[in-house]
Amino acid sequence: MSSRSHLLNDRTAEHYRRSLTHGVERVAARLAGTEQPFTGVTPAELAPTVSAVDLEKPLGTASEALDELERVYLRDAVYFHHPRYLAHLNCPVVIPAVLGEAVLSAVNSSLDTWDQSAGGTLIERRLVAWTAQRVGFGSSADGIFTSGGSQSNLQALLLAREETCRLVRKNSETALSTPQILPKLRILTSECSHFSIEKAAVLLGLGTEAVVPVPCDEQRRMRVDALEEEMARCERAGETVMAVVATAGTTDFGSIDPLPAVADLCERAGAWLHVDAAYGCGLLTSRRRRGLLTGIERADSVTVDYHKSFFQPVSSSAVLVRDGDTLRHVTYHADYLNPARSVEREIPNQVDKSLQTTRRFDALKLWMTLRVMGADALGELFDECVDRAADAWRLLDADDRFDVVVEPRLSTLVFRHLPRGADAALTDRANLHARDALFASGEAVVAGTVVDGRHHLKFTLLNPETSTADIAAVLDLIAAHADRYAAEHGAVHPPALSTAPAC
Ligand SMILES: *Cc1c(COP(=O)(O)O)cnc(C)c1O
Repeated sequence: MSSRSHLLNDRTAEHYRRSLTHGVERVAARLAGTEQPFTGVTPAELAPTVSAVDLEKPLGTASEALDELERVYLRDAVYFHHPRYLAHLNCPVVIPAVLGEAVLSAVNSSLDTWDQSAGGTLIERRLVAWTAQRVGFGSSADGIFTSGGSQSNLQALLLAREETCRLVRKNSETALSTPQILPKLRILTSECSHFSIEKAAVLLGLGTEAVVPVPCDEQRRMRVDALEEEMARCERAGETVMAVVATAGTTDFGSIDPLPAVADLCERAGAWLHVDAAYGCGLLTSRRRRGLLTGIERADSVTVDYHKSFFQPVSSSAVLVRDGDTLRHVTYHADYLNPARSVEREIPNQVDKSLQTTRRFDALKLWMTLRVMGADALGELFDECVDRAADAWRLLDADDRFDVVVEPRLSTLVFRHLPRGADAALTDRANLHARDALFASGEAVVAGTVVDGRHHLKFTLLNPETSTADIAAVLDLIAAHADRYAAEHGAVHPPALSTAPAC
């Protein structure tokens, strides 16, 4: 076959159809045949297979490349659609979105300028407006699709920084330069917030010291009294609160910060409020639980991750702002792309609102989802996950083999196994071991985290197909692994372990 026969165009439509159909058949067969979320393959076992592929020698046909792909990827991939995948914030994906993905990569629109995307730009704008309306923003709202929550948070904080610098300059008698202002800026966020806030602070020239962790209550929500105190301390110290970041659905606990009270404090202090709803955004489609997000409409900016609780394929996220004017802080003009005169001519160039230039048409996935199944159907799927987490909490709470940290608001559970006769250090190691052993078996995948210095396990439930029976079965597997480990490592002789090195 000639090189040109691989180009997707009017003459290769049949080749395209066949090639993609092959791929779809393989994936469909894989999905139908997965009995476990994972095979348990180790990097050392899989690496030689990937290394052995000679990239200088193409196979020539899609079906041969797909045969090879079975070995290097599909056979050992971690499958999020499996009901016993309970680890991270990954969702099974809805079929209309996968269809959208296939369409968007084939047409390959780039959403930076109108002259590269035409209808795509309008579709994205409709979806930004749709989401903003669900948030409860008014008609001045705007936003942009991004690659993920981390980028959405970065962009929101960039806008907050620029707005804060503008206000500081306006209110000061001397003309302050940006380098004079930056060291005084502070970002206040709960100790349970996402680490992308710190990364953003570094990228924004503030350093991690600029991020001030605000303590949480027992439910892992930001303490309003502590926030108020911290804001007062900043004022006394001559520091400027650049932003308060509230989390609507913390990654570990699914806890939702008290948004109305936090909004009150921000309003009083004139501070930018960013709500990181990367995880909790699914509530925007829930008929039963939308109320949990009350107050989000008072934010200046909001992060939503459709690739978490909207069942969309990676990547799909957006940052929304209450005042669309603030997006001007990322507007730069290039003569070859989006010259200033295109603004006067009202040509809608999305690059004017984005940190990216060439940008995927991820919005199409959500569009297809809403057009085929609708928002209520998404909300029902997420509600089922939240219901399941409540069931799982009841299971864990009633089971004295386990200690569970908080009753979930969303769909995560942080807990640990308490092997009989094990001291604190051995309990830690037994839980770490149980997670690794489970992963190695491939029977289920769970996550881990540290709470108050102690190793815990975590379920993140984003699959409505996960049943209470699945959860009970995984708990039994965890208990078996942890108990065996503890017994083998001397759980019956706890005093001897007090001097054992922690690993
Ligand atoms: C997942 C998550 C993020 C980061 O989002 P990515 O899409 O992974 O970049 C930010 N904040 C919270 C609360 C999250 O759960």
